[in-house]
Amino acid sequence: MSLKIKNWISGLPEYVAGRTLEEIKKEYGIAEVYKMASNENLYGLPPGLAERISEDIGDIYYYPDSSCLEIKEKLSRFYGIGQDKIVVGCGSDQIIEMICDSFTGPGDNIVTSDPTFPIYEKSALKCGGESRKVPLKGFRQDTGRLLEAVDENTKVLFLTNPHNPTGTNITRDELDTVLDRLDRSILLVIDEAYFEYCPREDRLETTDFLAGRDNLMLLRTFSKIYGLAGLRIGYGLGSGEAVDAINKVRLPFNVNSMAQKAAVYALDYAGHAEEICEKVNRQKQVYYNALDENNIEYVRSYANFLLISTGKREMEIVEELLRNGFIVRPGTNLGFPGYIRVTIATDEVNKRFLDVFTGIYRDIYKQGR
Ligand code: PMP
Repeated sequence: MSLKIKNWISGLPEYVAGRTLEEIKKEYGIAEVYKMASNENLYGLPPGLAERISEDIGDIYYYPDSSCLEIKEKLSRFYGIGQDKIVVGCGSDQIIEMICDSFTGPGDNIVTSDPTFPIYEKSALKCGGESRKVPLKGFRQDTGRLLEAVDENTKVLFLTNPHNPTGTNITRDELDTVLDRLDRSILLVIDEAYFEYCPREDRLETTDFLAGRDNLMLLRTFSKIYGLAGLRIGYGLGSGEAVDAINKVRLPFNVNSMAQKAAVYALDYAGHAEEICEKVNRQKQVYYNALDENNIEYVRSYANFLLISTGKREMEIVEELLRNGFIVRPGTNLGFPGYIRVTIATDEVNKRFLDVFTGIYRDIYKQGR
């Protein structure tokens, strides 16, 4: 006899975890492996941050601060936003989950793009809700059709800027239209996990849109440019009404104490984050040049990763890259067969990657294996 699991949970796909560095080293018998699959900041932590974090390790026998007061105070000053409009989560993943926990149930839907970051859909389905998915148009989110997909059962519209897995952006005009036309009873979430990687001149200062609008929430994270992916801390800015609701579903100790401390310190490195942004954008140009020289297509990106065309022999290329110590995400796993998604690494690793990748690509296609 089987257990009475909710029928919408039984139907969910299981999460398939990526392979670890150790697994790859063992399987392929190689000493150096580069993980360029999850869009972390591969330049590592800003100088001095690890030392500051480690000074607090002795306090971990206490539970963390349930209200995340210190980091909320700091974010409040950093952005000039009231603490009542800030919520902190175990990664921005958890905020997406808590938004769906608060807004969607059976009969409700969220509207999102396809392909996109999969956690929006997963979180809605987990609550018995649905996700209405609008295909991307030329690798970009189709804001017009996203608005058309909103119906009387829509509770949340999710945008991602820059988008994952394509790295494309949303323009000021597109955002203005969405803000204008979307009914104010529907929460608009803009997931800005890669906000700080967008070149300064292209960034939409979305925090300016929060005043006087209670149906907008921005999601940002310490996992990407601030280098704290392993500690799990992200935050939502905006809608006080949504923050109040999320605080009701939030578990009391959802953000661990080391993550809270580390995030407080990390905000002192905003200048360093700008330098990382510039480095990554210079490195993207190195990729564009090498790919252009080899006639390999790619999508121009506003984030710290690139979607690169592999043609139909994607899986052979992924395998060959692994053999050479480079872990990338096959596009097939992201809804883009015939592509790979590659995280921009350090200058030296990028150079090595480009040599190896363009070599593999030329070999595979020229020799018609
Ligand atoms: N949103 C997007 C678009 C992402 O790519 C990611 C991480 N891959 C997240 C949110 C979640 O980030 P975190 O939970 O680490 O804050």
